[in-house]
Amino acid sequence: MPELPEVETVKNTLSPLLIGRTITTCRLNRTDVIKYPAAEQFSLLLNDARIGLLSRRGKYLIINLDNGDRLIIHLRMTGRLLCTPADKEQKIHTHVIFALDNGNELRFSDTRRFGCLWLLKKGEEDTVTGINRLGIEPFDDNFNADYLSSHLSKRRICIKQGLLDQSVIAGLGNIYVDESLFAAAIAPQHLTSELNQQQWQTLAEVIPQVLMQSIANNGTTFSDYLDGEGNAGKNMPFLQAYRREGLPCLRCGASLQRAKIAGRSSYFCPVCQK
Ligand SMILES: [Zn+2]
Repeated sequence: MPELPEVETVKNTLSPLLIGRTITTCRLNRTDVIKYPAAEQFSLLLNDARIGLLSRRGKYLIINLDNGDRLIIHLRMTGRLLCTPADKEQKIHTHVIFALDNGNELRFSDTRRFGCLWLLKKGEEDTVTGINRLGIEPFDDNFNADYLSSHLSKRRICIKQGLLDQSVIAGLGNIYVDESLFAAAIAPQHLTSELNQQQWQTLAEVIPQVLMQSIANNGTTFSDYLDGEGNAGKNMPFLQAYRREGLPCLRCGASLQRAKIAGRSSYFCPVCQK
């Protein structure tokens, strides 16, 4: 599932291909991926819309239009955005096609169809996407040990669940929570109420580092994720915990384990993650 580094990479790869282009038409092969407004209105509003800057919030991609409207996309499990020449064959599961004024198309495809698209009018309050309930960005200046402990240490949850909570930190998912906990040498089952100040400090330091490394490698592809030009991410060989069950820990040599924690498959070292 695309997390912060993958959505950031989609944004970075699409930006030079989309900024300044005009959407001439928006065609819908399926309407159920359009969450707001009604599908017919969604397409009409995008006719002749000129694309401004792209931005990201958590795992949401935001395509800002010059008229002040915002096209917001969440890729969820298997959603993809691909910018491609219009004459290139359309892959199965392509649900939305934005035709551009230079002969290219921006195509949204999604095999499992959990992905969502919204269009908000200029100045319209966002009550539909969930962005207004997101917590801090990991690259925010105020993301630090105090922020983490004040939001998580009073709850009776394990740290894995706490770091996955989008209302606390925006953008982390299963891969980067496991990688961050490994980097911080903290066990995913550790209760947030029992973490000490040094551990919060370490987490606040390693989370942005883990994310930056993945962004530098254009994200992690282990199944579906591709960037805006159709290329796979190159971060998989750099992962230290995720999907390394049974392999030796790169820190202590013990065999890494997998267990279901907070409802998710979690990968960790049973020896050096405390
Ligand atoms: Zn270890």
